[in-house]
Amino acid sequence: MNRRRERIVIAGAGLAGLRTAERLRELGFSGELVIAGAELHQPYHRPALSKQFLAGQLGRRELTLHSHVDLDADWRLGRSVRRLDAQRRLVQIGRAKPIRYDGLVIATGVRARTPHGVPRHPRVRVLRTIDDAEAMQRLLLADDLPCVVIGGGFTATELASTLAEQRRDVVLVSRSGALLGGLGPEIGDGVTELHRRHGVDVQLDTQVKHWVPGEHGVGLYLTGGRFLFAGLVVLAVGGEPETDWLAGSGADIEDGVLCGPTCHVAGLPDVVAAGDAARWPVRRGQSPRRIEHWLNAVEMGRAAAGNLLSGRSAATPFEPLPRFWSEQYGQRFQAAGDVGPGYRRTSLEGDPARGPGVLGYLERGELVGVVSRERPRAMVRWTAELSDRATGSRHRLREPLTA
Ligand SMILES: Cc1cc2nc3c(=O)[nH]c(=O)nc-3n(C[C@H](O)[C@H](O)[C@H](O)COP(=O)(O)OP(=O)(O)OC[C@H]3O[C@@H](n4cnc5c(N)ncnc54)[C@H](O)[C@@H]3O)c2cc1C
Repeated sequence: MNRRRERIVIAGAGLAGLRTAERLRELGFSGELVIAGAELHQPYHRPALSKQFLAGQLGRRELTLHSHVDLDADWRLGRSVRRLDAQRRLVQIGRAKPIRYDGLVIATGVRARTPHGVPRHPRVRVLRTIDDAEAMQRLLLADDLPCVVIGGGFTATELASTLAEQRRDVVLVSRSGALLGGLGPEIGDGVTELHRRHGVDVQLDTQVKHWVPGEHGVGLYLTGGRFLFAGLVVLAVGGEPETDWLAGSGADIEDGVLCGPTCHVAGLPDVVAAGDAARWPVRRGQSPRRIEHWLNAVEMGRAAAGNLLSGRSAATPFEPLPRFWSEQYGQRFQAAGDVGPGYRRTSLEGDPARGPGVLGYLERGELVGVVSRERPRAMVRWTAELSDRATGSRHRLREPLTA
């Protein structure tokens, strides 16, 4: 691409969109930069929504994300990108006439998933946007009825923790047998115990069988026969990529927009994708997948910007070391690399199931990932080890202690 005269359109004014824009300017792109966002807000810090923002410790203004360089961008906020004609390089923003682009960045993230059969009711909410969080705050102020959180992943457990710390009665309903099941039973059991210790009623292997929407609250019959009456029910059961607007564009949008290793969207010229909406082979030989974490949106946005400017033939693969964090009851959980219940696991430091410690994840005896609980300094060290591994120096561990 010619860096001076052209127009790059960024679809999605979230974290990945912002960091892509920033990198484009850092790399000397001096053409027109259009950033379209479905929400009315400038990009903001989404992770705080389930934590400090809901708890009232941070306000709207403190959540706003800023660029480190002057973006000189044409922000089109409150307007969704509706259609892409990749053949003619046209994109439609809101109801306006489609505009031509020379480069397009897809950074539209995900929306919260709503399972089938859930009634539309003002007290049944999801948490993805700042508006969602504010609606939830209003409900919490209205009465002190119990809260039900449905889900067992990060958003669900963080929400339960924030609500419990506000002295609300909280029931956490998860259909799986363990919380944070994606990290394996050691962390999952530890987190379950942590929640129970803080008074959260954790219901595992449980689903909502029947909903009873009422005027002042919502009734829920659970499998197992229990009945709950809640003033607030939050569905925290994962996200779905915001890629419907790409239907008919030629992009593969089955579970996110499919990209090659360089973030270029498969089959579409001069289109890259970044952040939660993108599916790509994270490492050579791996099946394409999405990563819904903060640092990935930052790093992928920056990589996508460079690769868009350099063009497909000169682009370099984006092969990050996936990392994320979560905070619950003031405790920090951090992860790096490949983690999951399918890997063999060994305790590297302490006992993360019960308290501070680091758990290692092994593939054929080799360390591929770590999760730490309340060990931020150790985490820096282990993350460096995993990075070294990616650049060639391998770390073989003794037989794992846990299978
Ligand atoms: C409650 C919550 C807590 C989280 N906590 C953590 C955490 O502790 N640690 C961690 O690592 N990650 C956390 N995350 C995940 C992290 O926030 C995301 O990975 C990150 O925000 C992804 O950035 P993104 O730009 O890809 O998507 P988003 O931040 O979702 O931005 C996408 C933007 O595109 C907009 N959009 C959608 N469709 C269109 C369209 N058609 N046209 C124009 N704009 C559109 C959306 O409105 C949105 O503003 C959390 C997420 C949530 C919701």
